Amino acid sequence: MIAENLREVRQEIQESCALVGRDEKSVRLVAVTKTVSSQVMRQLVDLDVFDLAENRADVFLEKKQELADINTIRWHFIGNLQRRKVKLIINKIDYFHALDNLSLAAEIQKRADHVLKCFVEVNISGEASKHGVTPTELSEFIAALSAYDKIQVVGLMTMAPFGAKVEEQRAIFGKLRQLQQEIEATNLVYAPCHELSMGMSNDFPAAIYEGATFIRVGTSLVKDA
Ligand SMILES: *Cc1c(COP(=O)(O)O)cnc(C)c1O
Repeated sequence: MIAENLREVRQEIQESCALVGRDEKSVRLVAVTKTVSSQVMRQLVDLDVFDLAENRADVFLEKKQELADINTIRWHFIGNLQRRKVKLIINKIDYFHALDNLSLAAEIQKRADHVLKCFVEVNISGEASKHGVTPTELSEFIAALSAYDKIQVVGLMTMAPFGAKVEEQRAIFGKLRQLQQEIEATNLVYAPCHELSMGMSNDFPAAIYEGATFIRVGTSLVKDA
């Protein structure tokens, strides 16, 4: 049941925050709804979860349409986005979590009618299957984004490998935080980079420990829905 799942997730957020003395309000719960219907998304909104995330352009558009009567939703796009799909969704989302190449940035620049809040995705683990710029490429990538005034780099995003042990999760999230702080310290107007989008159902406590401000939780919230 969604309400019960949500209660448990909130409880775990609270406990993780307490462990490191963080205010639980500093962690935004983004519900990943890619596996469920708009019906279930409606239940989440009724439970005051207003940040919803999808990872496929066509599915997102369909659900956004089905939920058009609700104006409190903040839409997050967390998937790899093909260039040709940019124009379909870019003006319908509030956050984009997977910016990792300049041709995508150029397409966003061309199609966006407002400044879009973006997370730069970083591949910390080095897994070939993962998207994202490498830590070595990151500062040059951020510098190059200055050419695109429709893009605001609000933070960095990463994913830990599936099945990683807690120590490994911590190391990866800690590394992302270190990179985020380095960029933040350069005080770029177009890249304030205050936020960290990291942590999913299996690893969000470790992510919160390392400073996550946006956690993207799917399975734990929507199981048995
Ligand atoms: C699916 C997905 C999530 C949520 O994963 P769960 O393990 O279901 O919590 C988070 N982030 C991204 C990028 C995803 O694709």
